Amino acid sequence: MCGIVAYIGPKDATAFLLEGLQRLEYRGYDSAGVAVAAKNGLKVCKVKGRVADLAAAVPARFKGTTGIGHTRWATHGVPSDANAHPHTDVSERIAVVHNGIIENADQLRALLAADGVVFTSETDTEVLAHLVAAHSGEGVELEDAVRAALGQIVGTYGIAVLDARQPDRIVVARNGSPIVLGLGEKEMFVASDVAALVRYTRQVVHLEDGELATVRADGFRTFTEDARTVTRQPSTVDWEVASYDTAGYQHYLLKEIHEQPAAVERTLSGRLDERFATAHLGGLNLDARELREIRRVKILGCGSAYYAGEMGAQLIEELARIPAHSEPASEFRYRNPVIEADTLYVAVSQSGETYDTLAAVQEIKRKGGRVLGVVNTVGSAIARECDGGIYLHAGPEISVASTKAFTSTVIAFALLALHFGRIHDLSPADGRRIVAGLKALPDHIREILKQEEQIAELAAAYADNAGMMFIGRTRGYPVAREGAQKLKEISYVHAEAYPASELKHGPLALISPELPTVALVPDDELLDKNLTTLGEIKARSGRILAIAHRTPEAKLIDHCLVVPKSEPELDPLLLNIPLQLLAYYAALALGRDVDKPRNLAKSVTVE
Ligand code: GLU
Repeated sequence: MCGIVAYIGPKDATAFLLEGLQRLEYRGYDSAGVAVAAKNGLKVCKVKGRVADLAAAVPARFKGTTGIGHTRWATHGVPSDANAHPHTDVSERIAVVHNGIIENADQLRALLAADGVVFTSETDTEVLAHLVAAHSGEGVELEDAVRAALGQIVGTYGIAVLDARQPDRIVVARNGSPIVLGLGEKEMFVASDVAALVRYTRQVVHLEDGELATVRADGFRTFTEDARTVTRQPSTVDWEVASYDTAGYQHYLLKEIHEQPAAVERTLSGRLDERFATAHLGGLNLDARELREIRRVKILGCGSAYYAGEMGAQLIEELARIPAHSEPASEFRYRNPVIEADTLYVAVSQSGETYDTLAAVQEIKRKGGRVLGVVNTVGSAIARECDGGIYLHAGPEISVASTKAFTSTVIAFALLALHFGRIHDLSPADGRRIVAGLKALPDHIREILKQEEQIAELAAAYADNAGMMFIGRTRGYPVAREGAQKLKEISYVHAEAYPASELKHGPLALISPELPTVALVPDDELLDKNLTTLGEIKARSGRILAIAHRTPEAKLIDHCLVVPKSEPELDPLLLNIPLQLLAYYAALALGRDVDKPRNLAKSVTVE
């Protein structure tokens, strides 16, 4: 959430800052700004709006070889020029960009104001600029002033700080929000996400929480908040540069939907064992005996990761017959959760930086629980914090709404469930059935994607309603929830998800020709029950778009999208794919900003 970039080296910083911000814009996009250290002090340019607006506003003579930049996702104060980052102190000597929330900002504001500081924004961040300035008297190193300022702060941050008097360095710090250093040839880069760096370098250093770094053109030094030097070895980013482009698609979202067959292949790659009809998951760090002691699985995630967790829980229950349950990570730590020694906790996050999920992991670990991470971004905070885990290898997901990471997460759970199942009572025959089913999924997804044109037409027809109902039974219910979520977040069409069995207990009252229903109707043991529900909706003049393995009788539906049948346990994953395209084309028909839906941002690193 929010993007931070910084550059120090021989070149003009502004070009990198603007390009880097463009790449990070999906993480926050209500305002943007840059600051560079020029000969006669700092130059700052910041505007409400997109990075393109900032690029247009930056004057031609905005030159400097040390600079910082930011795209904002407002938490304190409306999006405006004044609230955009960087924020400066009164003498405009210190500039700060910040991702996160300073919880004691009001108290610090009052203290600073009593000392005569006049504030120019409503943000929590501005206090940091004034505090750093207050601590950086003549001869004080910037890193010491930043450390002293951070000592007064309660909250989360990723920051980059620039001092006009010490233009040969940038000081950065991390506590809860990611900061990555990029190592170049006689130049250094900083970003909150490697997406901004891969064009310039593959050598990166991820800061840990509680760490700072002083970054100079010829290198960096990492240290803790109490000034102890720590040594960090660079790692190499292995995602391709091209995977950060739209590759000719109109939107990242559409590209990522189409990347799913390849993403699934990568998630499965090297992990299926045909001989023993099981899955190999090297990163679990749990042997068969330890796994057998597990009595329960608790999955934690936010948004789509939570719904992917619901599909995961069903897979684990069905294949391993171990009770499993998914819960919003954002709620978890606030109910003083009971942590059990024989429960396996699994944290799901595409970015691996989702603050709520990270906080849940920390709560579990503090109480002695064991946590696995299901994460896409290698080396991210959650991946590092967990005891073991499964990397998705889905490739970077840029669009705010998750598609391929969602699918790959469900695949990761299918592998975990298979592995678990074969340690328990899943028969070799059933194991083989699942292995074969998993291997066939990429082709099944390709087949569904071929229906794109038809789905686009239906989406345009259905988008024109005030709302939509999504229903499914048991395995179909998480599909309905994720389908409704996708439609809401990118098209802003109101959508509700209900278990089909619950319809008659309340929401049936909503059914009318103006509130169409998307019904998940797989060809499973509940087919007859689902058909009965369709009849009940039709009897109340409801319109129905069925997602099914075969088209129900004409009198029960208005439209149907047929998806290929896999194994019943894996079917939910395929039933979800047309719903992604449905949401995408509904959003497109309504003229929405598909990759950057209003009020949202990718990788939610604030509470
Ligand atoms: N809390 C800061 C603000 O509202 C930073 C928000 C962000 O992470 O973009 O300006």
